[in-house]
Amino acid sequence: MTDLCHTQSLISIDQALKNISSALSTLTGDEMLSLHTAKDRVLSVGCTAPIDLPTFANSAMDGYAFNSADIQSSDFDLLQIGISWAGRPFKKTLKRGQCVRIFTGAVLPNGADSVIMQEQVEISDVTIHFPTNTQAQQHTRSVGEDVRQHDCLLPAGKQLTAIDLGLLASAGIYQVQVKRKIRIAFFSTGDELRPVGSQLSEGQIYDSNRYTLAALLDNPCYQVSDLGVVADNKAMISQCLSQAAQSHDVVITSGGASVGDADYIKQILDEIGQVALWKLAIKPGKPLAFGHIQGCYFFGLPGNPISVLATFQQIVTPALRQLSGLTNNTPIRFQAICNSNLYKQAGRQEFQRGVLSQTDAGEFEVISAGKQGSNILSASSRANCYIILAQAQGDVIPGESVLVEPFNLFL
Ligand code: AMP
Ligand code: MG
Repeated sequence: MTDLCHTQSLISIDQALKNISSALSTLTGDEMLSLHTAKDRVLSVGCTAPIDLPTFANSAMDGYAFNSADIQSSDFDLLQIGISWAGRPFKKTLKRGQCVRIFTGAVLPNGADSVIMQEQVEISDVTIHFPTNTQAQQHTRSVGEDVRQHDCLLPAGKQLTAIDLGLLASAGIYQVQVKRKIRIAFFSTGDELRPVGSQLSEGQIYDSNRYTLAALLDNPCYQVSDLGVVADNKAMISQCLSQAAQSHDVVITSGGASVGDADYIKQILDEIGQVALWKLAIKPGKPLAFGHIQGCYFFGLPGNPISVLATFQQIVTPALRQLSGLTNNTPIRFQAICNSNLYKQAGRQEFQRGVLSQTDAGEFEVISAGKQGSNILSASSRANCYIILAQAQGDVIPGESVLVEPFNLFL
């Protein structure tokens, strides 16, 4: 059954994502950071290799460096004339018939072009016995085989991973120019909300969304202000929003975005800013509002805890990634066999919470994480993926293939 009367004015998530994306411009402003504090930040300027990597030819093994011209058709002996240690090169040039003891990372001496592993030779004082079939030009690392001087080391827009920081350091770069942090404020709205740690009176609940949001916003690219809880009072919400908009790039609220008598978010945004979209054909998360207040982007998330989670991950995250200058904002999704009955009315795209696993044969399977109400936190706590059911889709029976999105993976 399609709940048409409730879905006609709703915007599809694909359309909403397009509209939001085209309303956003990447934030301007950079900062210089040392590598110590740059993990997960986004490069605003690409980095060029100042040197070749490796900068000198060296050994990939502990063994003996020699010249391949000395290789015989059968086994043969060479005279060891010295040692090349990592960081302490052997300075002389090898002559024919000679070899040098060498360790991993040590400079390949002049006159040598090959290394044999120490396990393959027999040592008798300074006479080193090489076996039949000794290979030429093995176990060496050549200049620039990793990166060439002046090549692009990392492009602009790259989010710096652990190995990126290692790559920069290996090239001697100790500072990077990254996008400044996005200044994000968030607060909860609702007369019923009390802070964790206080006593609840009848009808009151703990403000859990603020914990969820604070954790979702815990990201080195964001500078976050937690503005607490604001009561369902139009003037107070309006004032809090206007003030936050003056000193932040993004303001996020939860609650009060729907059509109840105490839901003021949409009205306020109409008055002090501009509503770009409101109400999406998704479940959970229908009453989402997006717009701006002067130069500040605004996301009014619904109040139900799982609507907050789903709209943040599906709508806000790609937007914040885009603002950060990231270009890989499409989450990885793939098909899995569903082993549960899933209940679904046609009309809205659903992001049901599931538990994804992989069989011994490598096939992906998913089951429902449990009750799917947008107030049910425990099922989402057990989940590790969304099961994404298209707008027109109805119920799913066991054995059907469904689209899944594991949490926190991006292409
Ligand atoms: P609302 O969108 O304000 O109508 O709220 C929808 C539901 O979410 C209601 O049951 C609220 O009590 C609940 N809710 C709203 N804000 C929060 C919050 N910060 N933490 C937990 N539940 C909330
Ligand atoms: Mg409310």
